[in-house]
Amino acid sequence: MLEITDIPAEGYELVRRGVDRERGLHAIIAVHSTVLGPALGGMRLWPYASEEEALTDVLRLARGMTYKAACAGLDLGGGKSVILGDPAAKTEAMFEAMGEFVESFGGRYITAEDVNTRVEDMGVVARKTRHVVGLEGKSGNPSPKTARGVFLGLKATLEEVFGSDEVAGRTVAIEGCGSVGSIYAQLVADAGGKVVCADIRPEAAERVAEATGGTIVAPDEIWKVECDVYGPCALGGVLNDETIPELRCRAVCGAANNQLLEARHGDMLRERGIKYAPDYVVNAGGLINVYNELVPGGYDEERALEMMDKIRQNLLEIFAISREEGISTAAAADRFAERRIEAARSGAGNA
Ligand code: NAD
Repeated sequence: MLEITDIPAEGYELVRRGVDRERGLHAIIAVHSTVLGPALGGMRLWPYASEEEALTDVLRLARGMTYKAACAGLDLGGGKSVILGDPAAKTEAMFEAMGEFVESFGGRYITAEDVNTRVEDMGVVARKTRHVVGLEGKSGNPSPKTARGVFLGLKATLEEVFGSDEVAGRTVAIEGCGSVGSIYAQLVADAGGKVVCADIRPEAAERVAEATGGTIVAPDEIWKVECDVYGPCALGGVLNDETIPELRCRAVCGAANNQLLEARHGDMLRERGIKYAPDYVVNAGGLINVYNELVPGGYDEERALEMMDKIRQNLLEIFAISREEGISTAAAADRFAERRIEAARSGAGNA
């Protein structure tokens, strides 16, 4: 039987623990904010060492989703769910129990796939709740959309730094040639840009280099490459005390989540005169895409692509806030999101 208990968490609307011993579920769902709309965020399955560690993660991720959706201009709040467990031992029974747990939020929380959960798992979740997006046959694979959003972010970044969004002749150093990085690299090459890439899987880097006419460097060299833009598309935390002094780029624009190891690294980049395109602003293409499943009338690719075009304007506004207020671009993105949330909270609309 699924047992649901509240977990008090200051600054969050609702945080609950769901435990079902028979079906092997131990999970937490956190709803950070529903000011702009229902809280959407993926379902992560991870072998957390303790519930405390899982709680810290879900709270951080749920809050991040509020900011990401607000910056993207979506009528969505922020939430997230985590399942404590071994990804190799996931079962249908566990995902059915999780579906019931999601359903208990009555639509205040909407789930989707995330680390270690797949579209097929969401199909199982959907047996118990309607509040799940990213199902088979709907908005599809988010990675090409995410890559497109990052590329739009690149153009805005180039405009801010060089006064022209022309990609031709610019060099972009892409770290991680996976689902998003490989398409981002292709978009850069198609626009006449030069690609330098790296991946811990040599065959992935080779594929991208061949397709783009680019060059390969070692994974521990990529951020040191002399280039116009460094594009992290692998792991988080890559902008830190060690890497920032070694950067030889004018800007950073990539898909990876949580690129700044700590908030102060945003200031460090600013001090070095390197323009950082905040990750959650430029990698929102996948979220915008899946959000379109919730829009009345159902998913429409054209509308989703149109909504993604706003990433460029949003980023330019964020750069302007950073300049005018003398703060890092990361802090400016938070401010941009908070203004929209505050406007909605005070009834001034969601503009
Ligand atoms: P992916 O797993 O398909 O690709 C990641 C690639 O990075 C892999 O090829 C991997 O071998 C490589 N890699 C890992 N460690 C590396 C290292 N130290 N140096 C160089 N390469 C390394 O993942 P993805 O879906 O392309 O996502 C990339 C990043 O973008 C992740 O941080 C993800 O959270 C973020 N993101 C993805 C989406 C999406 O729609 N897929 C949306 C938003 C954010």
